[in-house]
Amino acid sequence: MIDRARLAELLDRERRTFRDRNPRSAAAYEQARAHLFGGVPMTWMNKTAAGFPLYLAEARGARVTDVDGHTYVDLCLGDTGAMAGHSPQASVDAVADRFGGRGGATVMMPTEDATWVGAELGRRFGVPYWSFSLTATDANRWAIRLARAITGRPKILVNSYCYHGSVDEVLLVVGPDGEQVSREGNVGAPVDPTVTSRVVEFNDLAALERELAHGDVAAVLMEPALTNIGIVLPEPGYLDGVRELTRRYGSLLINDETHTFSAGPGGCTGAWGLDPDIVTIGKAIGGGIPSGGYGLSAEVAARVEAMSGLDLVDMGGVGGTLAGNALSVAAMRATLEHVLTDDAFVGMTELATRFTKGVQEVIDEHALPWSVTQLGARAEYRFAAPAPRNGGESNAAGDPDLDDYLHVYLANRGVLLTPFHNMALMCPATTEADVDLHHEVFASAVSELVG
Ligand code: PMP
Repeated sequence: MIDRARLAELLDRERRTFRDRNPRSAAAYEQARAHLFGGVPMTWMNKTAAGFPLYLAEARGARVTDVDGHTYVDLCLGDTGAMAGHSPQASVDAVADRFGGRGGATVMMPTEDATWVGAELGRRFGVPYWSFSLTATDANRWAIRLARAITGRPKILVNSYCYHGSVDEVLLVVGPDGEQVSREGNVGAPVDPTVTSRVVEFNDLAALERELAHGDVAAVLMEPALTNIGIVLPEPGYLDGVRELTRRYGSLLINDETHTFSAGPGGCTGAWGLDPDIVTIGKAIGGGIPSGGYGLSAEVAARVEAMSGLDLVDMGGVGGTLAGNALSVAAMRATLEHVLTDDAFVGMTELATRFTKGVQEVIDEHALPWSVTQLGARAEYRFAAPAPRNGGESNAAGDPDLDDYLHVYLANRGVLLTPFHNMALMCPATTEADVDLHHEVFASAVSELVG
């Protein structure tokens, strides 16, 4: 379907344009190589379609400006960290007050804001007892420890091609012959993850039951819809089946809502009436300030409290000095109270629907074997039709050159998509015109390629 020679030629042209358009970013990257490992502040920033990253000058709402003076419609939004928009005013004011005005970012004293945030997350996600972290990774790590502690079981079960942060237990996939294998490139794993974990494909209840029946799974850690290998939605009855099987085999269910928060003010858990034992979340809830947390059901909280000998106060492996600090908690409160409100999700979801419809029209016009999937305020296109039904299928549909072509083409014309994904996320400041600009450029990228 795709003429690979044509794709290579267009990708090369777009990369040259990118280099010509962005001399300051290119120079900044060259200079960084002498002082930063890999030339970037964090090694994943080398995930760039064009050969070097754009350097940030400023960002506000749904707009980002780079050091060469180009302003972009930002549909990446920090891969969800900025789902509230960049520097939303209410969060800025709360952070300025807590850090500058009243002061006291990290004092080893609780603030009253934390109680408000716990109550609000409880209202949205249905689990009442919250504890905070600074990242979703840590929320998952600590939730896993609690699950192991109260069940006395060693293993964690995840879905193939999931991502829950750099958590040791989740870095495995279902291999080509159905065997469980460490993820390719897993860096310095402390033990082979097949020792600590089990993995099954999403939407496969038979496999889930087979693995849970071993009786050694402390918790199933999952996203209610996969979002890190394209978006893969649950089939009808799947999530009910997961809940029923986890209960039957005595495993806890942890919903990681870090990305699926896009489904609504209470993520998929709220939107679809799910009933997990633990909810974890990070990224967006602090409006850009590091924050995250896990929420426990009343039953799980009671089981933890009933255990003697767990060190939850000092060096028992759950917690961090800066976790729950006053600044992070102030940012979460302001963001949830004033920015990512119930009302805001209505508009964000309408825009994602507009995005999905426009992309589908381009796919239909060229009869491409592609699909586009929406999850509330988020949508993603994938080079497979019908849309993949699990992580393995979605992984097989990957096309890195096509990804790069679309990403660079869009960037050269003022639109940023999420690296690692063909994902577009709407924030409260995103407009219809922003979505339409994407459509215009996407349509032109596609018609140059296949038209
Ligand atoms: N959970 C999910 C579902 C994620 O997508 C991610 C990151 N993409 C994480 C957890 C980890 O988030 P962080 O890197 O901020 O810790």
